[in-house]
Amino acid sequence: MRLGHLIRPHYANILLLSNTGEKLSTIGGKRADWYVEKNLAVELPPFEGYSRVLQLKFTPKNNLGNEFSLLVKHNQCVICGSPSELSLHHVIPYCIKRHFPSEKKEHTSEWCVLCCETCHIKAELPVRMLYKSLQDNLAQAFNNHPNVIFNHTLYRLFKLKKIGGAEYVEPEKLISWLASVSLNSLDQIPTDYPELEKLFLDRSESREETKRTKRTLVLEFIEQNGGIDGVKRIFRESFLAMKPQFLPKGFLEI
Ligand SMILES: [Zn+2]
Repeated sequence: MRLGHLIRPHYANILLLSNTGEKLSTIGGKRADWYVEKNLAVELPPFEGYSRVLQLKFTPKNNLGNEFSLLVKHNQCVICGSPSELSLHHVIPYCIKRHFPSEKKEHTSEWCVLCCETCHIKAELPVRMLYKSLQDNLAQAFNNHPNVIFNHTLYRLFKLKKIGGAEYVEPEKLISWLASVSLNSLDQIPTDYPELEKLFLDRSESREETKRTKRTLVLEFIEQNGGIDGVKRIFRESFLAMKPQFLPKGFLEI
């Protein structure tokens, strides 16, 4: 498995101050540049480990930043400390967390941690074991739709024709595949893919249904594992078993 690595440092550690000098939050580089460009903020000399410090020229509506948002976060693997080949690891798999109620989803950046490639792969393994049955059920909810099965069978016949045809499959199987896509002979299968694509059935109407099924499955999983807090605890424990040495303060708190 190869993971896509982050090109830019994930944490820009740019501190934003109010016009009266109170610490508001840390912001990303793009937003910082935008403030400066629009002449809405002035650049101050950096301090306390922040890469840049910006002071707004106006009174912001937002309240003061919390301790977590002001923290200087290091761009390194939270497990081994390596600064290279970093990517974001979702401690709670995204397909589960996205179904958390919105008030529980806010401020969840502390449930995403930076890992180097080696540690990321190691950290994924126990997570997969924890929700394998859910993943299987989700995959099935998708694959079981009649239109998906139809398209899949067409594609299978297309591949069969490419490798040389009927002699590579038992005749009964071929007949049943052809029948399931309402064809009589392999001759009716196009030889180029764009032509085959025209025969595919539309899946758009089934998408809503699949989405609903997936949501139900995830909510059931959450319920069966002690609700939101129970789920958090399970994935947190699994991740802490990796003995992360560089986990920033405030991460993975329940
Ligand atoms: Zn690492």
